[in-house]
Amino acid sequence: MSRIVISSLVKSYPSAQRRATDDVSLEVADGEFVVLVGPSGCGKTTLLRMVAGLERPDGGSIHIGDRDVTSLSPQRRDVSMVFQSYAIFPHMRVRQNIAFGLAMRKTPAAEVNRRVAEAAELLQLNDLLDRFPSQLSGGQRQRVAVARAIVVDAGVLLMDEPLSNLDALLRLQFRAELKKIVRQIGATTLYVTHDQAEAMSLGDRVAVMRDGRIVQAGDPLTVYNYPAHRFVGDFLGAPPMNFFLAEPGAVGAPDSLKLGKVLVGVRAENIALGTEGIPGTVEVVEPTGASTLLTVATSFGTLKVQAPPAVQTAPDDRVTLRLDPAALRLFDPETGLALAT
Ligand code: ADP
Ligand code: MG
Repeated sequence: MSRIVISSLVKSYPSAQRRATDDVSLEVADGEFVVLVGPSGCGKTTLLRMVAGLERPDGGSIHIGDRDVTSLSPQRRDVSMVFQSYAIFPHMRVRQNIAFGLAMRKTPAAEVNRRVAEAAELLQLNDLLDRFPSQLSGGQRQRVAVARAIVVDAGVLLMDEPLSNLDALLRLQFRAELKKIVRQIGATTLYVTHDQAEAMSLGDRVAVMRDGRIVQAGDPLTVYNYPAHRFVGDFLGAPPMNFFLAEPGAVGAPDSLKLGKVLVGVRAENIALGTEGIPGTVEVVEPTGASTLLTVATSFGTLKVQAPPAVQTAPDDRVTLRLDPAALRLFDPETGLALAT
């Protein structure tokens, strides 16, 4: 059993103005895939490195399974890590690169061969085992880094932006493959990315971080549809959630919305062009294929609307926006926190 329990982890770097992680608590169930997501500098790597044992916390604890590993060395934690800069060794062939962790653990040769063959099969590297990294594409090198991490069969797999060096198409392909592979090996996985789409697509749960803290953790669709904080609605989704100030009483009946003091959030896909609702003027029309994104100026501010792909509208058209009442979310404009509805 490799459940991870992170409790109140605090880490400050000398000279830093604020804590890199500030009282972070998170549990990852045995075999679960949790993604830490947030903007650059929010503390994701620091948190992952503390779980790996590469960074020492100033306070708090980390348990893996039933062991307190807070002060154990990385080798004694049963973790394996894939780094952002996939540090594979240029002077070693693919086979030796994959076997590296096993060699370090003095695994018998027959066992090494068997496990390397398995990992190579899983990552489709069978035909490349005798090549050097310089003879591989970026995507293939990334596969080697992942193979090297999974071959040691650790209970916990830690990955820090493992896809960020790949170009967009390869990243998309490898994302789905990685999800399949991690499911097959069944490791408890903590994965870091700043890419919200990657986080949503990979994680059983996502934990959204900001300024060293976890703002919200939950399954991807719940976090997307019910942001606990304005920040989460902003950070997850493309385009970000729309926000505007309105009068609380009028929110239940969007046709009679008035400017007011409550912050209302609504996603672009929950606004449609209709005959009754908020009047506006189309500013920009952006076809994306699957849908067409409209930027509409209204008395509540500029709203993004996800319209059907074949929508017939052009800049300067007058339109009426109908907001799905069930999809409106309310936030405190001062604190940004979601209000109970
Ligand atoms: P992320 O991975 O989310 O981009 P990091 O965990 O790398 O964020 O960084 C969190 C904060 O800690 C940032 O403000 C960063 O500048 C700071 N930081 C990270 N590593 C160090 C370090 N070795 N020394 C000083 N400050 C650091
Ligand atoms: Mg980082």
